Amino acid sequence: MTRPAPLVDQFQRRISYLRLSVTDRCDLRCAYCMPERMTFLPRKDVLSLEELRDLANGFIDRGITKIRLTGGEPLVRRDMMDLVRAIGRRIGDGLDELTLTTNATRLAQFAVDLHDAGVRRVNVSLDTLDRERFARLSRRDSLPHVLGGLAAAKAAGLKVKINTVALRGINEDEIPRIVEWAHGEGFDLTLIEVMPLGEVEGDRIDHYLPLVAVQERLESRWTLTPSDHRTGGPARYFDVAETGGRLGLITPLTNNFCAGCNRIRVTATGQLYACLGGNERVDLRAALRSCDPEGELVRALDTAMRIKPERHHFAIDERGQAPALARHMSMTGG
Ligand code: SAM
Ligand code: SF4
Repeated sequence: MTRPAPLVDQFQRRISYLRLSVTDRCDLRCAYCMPERMTFLPRKDVLSLEELRDLANGFIDRGITKIRLTGGEPLVRRDMMDLVRAIGRRIGDGLDELTLTTNATRLAQFAVDLHDAGVRRVNVSLDTLDRERFARLSRRDSLPHVLGGLAAAKAAGLKVKINTVALRGINEDEIPRIVEWAHGEGFDLTLIEVMPLGEVEGDRIDHYLPLVAVQERLESRWTLTPSDHRTGGPARYFDVAETGGRLGLITPLTNNFCAGCNRIRVTATGQLYACLGGNERVDLRAALRSCDPEGELVRALDTAMRIKPERHHFAIDERGQAPALARHMSMTGG
């Protein structure tokens, strides 16, 4: 059989990076991400371990070289390590990198296994170093577990990048301290603007903090030099002279980053979203559960390349405005 073509969209962007959500469930309830009483998907709708593995292999055969597993919280899925091991076997056989985005509450338990399976880098989401604030923001008192997870990751030889959502009136005052702490620990840090995805209890505009303002404040304190570092992702990077670390800024709302987009996202139910900020979607679960899974998957991925939009269009600008998209970030995994 001839090998199917690599994934290239109608704007000639080569798609080489898959973010695969393995569950929509989570053990935290970060206030900007989901409501306390979040409705999760029925388990039968979620892809099985075998389906996720076949999907990953199908993508790797179409030139995906980097896979990030995400969620919800990926480490709450029971057969997660079996999946990591199965996909990890493709490292060096089409796959260059397998990574994970996690809240780290269970990282202490899995750090060594992740490394053994071929994972070398993890992104950890952490918005505050204050235990009470953490408990308020995530609605769970889990900061000690997260810090234990980070220590275990370091000890296991995993390279860590911290992702912090910058939130007005919540962690705004703490950002310099988080930068210092992360760089002191040897972790890169990326700051993210909150995005209008899915209904939550409050109004996100109350906590929306444009990173241009944060950058200015950090620049009055430290020397930020634009860095050549590129990941093909939306972040712009800076070297911070005084801390010796690297700082990334993801500014989806103030700075559009779509021209260089190399990624697609698949939810835990096998819905491929061609853009984080759009509704263009292809049902890969239907392809996987058809009588010709391999052929249907190839066709579905070709469709995805035709419908991937040129750019996203979301904005947070009006009080009381409905979220730009009904689905929560925990569906597509960020
Ligand atoms: N549970 C894992 C975690 O928190 O790392 C993985 C999934 S989580 C949805 C992925 C990332 O999305 C986290 O860094 C989180 O802070 C971010 N996130 C969630 N909702 C967001 C929103 N509305 N705007 C911006 N970032 C968001
Ligand atoms: Fe869970 Fe991650 Fe959403 Fe927080 S950001 S509620 S850890 S999925």
